[in-house]
Amino acid sequence: MTTGTHRSDALEAQWSRALHSLGRRVTRQRLAVLAAVEHSPHSTADDAAAAVRAELPHITVQSVYVVLADLTDAGLLRRIETPHSPARYETRVGDNHHHAVCTGCGRIEDVDCAVGHAPCLTPSWAPGSGRMTIQIAEVMYQGLCDDCRDIPAQSTDHSTDSPQKEHHER
Ligand SMILES: [Zn+2]
Ligand SMILES: [Zn+2]
Repeated sequence: MTTGTHRSDALEAQWSRALHSLGRRVTRQRLAVLAAVEHSPHSTADDAAAAVRAELPHITVQSVYVVLADLTDAGLLRRIETPHSPARYETRVGDNHHHAVCTGCGRIEDVDCAVGHAPCLTPSWAPGSGRMTIQIAEVMYQGLCDDCRDIPAQSTDHSTDSPQKEHHER
């Protein structure tokens, strides 16, 4: 048995129990994918695949995609769709938290649910529209992170043709 640097026995035991109770086999692949996403929250599928393949070199990228989708179906992972970016995955499930994404660099941060339980927001239905029973309200905040806000050339809503300016990477 290899002991990876980022593996936690307590977490693996917890994931194993969850997989068992969902009628899924506990496999090294599934545990490695969960550990990779736990270690790097909001990983893309490619990020997760790279981390898993560092540990299990024989697993294909396609297999990691399949495991990610299956664990998402099982409720052990949450898939987040962000604008202008591939889907991200995280192990923080079931607390109805939201996300803020930087429109400059694409970094994503967790935002706690405003009311603490789903659905966070209640829609006001237009008269005559078909109503639904709302179970989840997922909020995607968009803005600029501190790093991107400090770059003066990043004006987006001005249509003036400014000359190419160098970005300063910080
Ligand atoms: Zn940013
Ligand atoms: Zn999150």
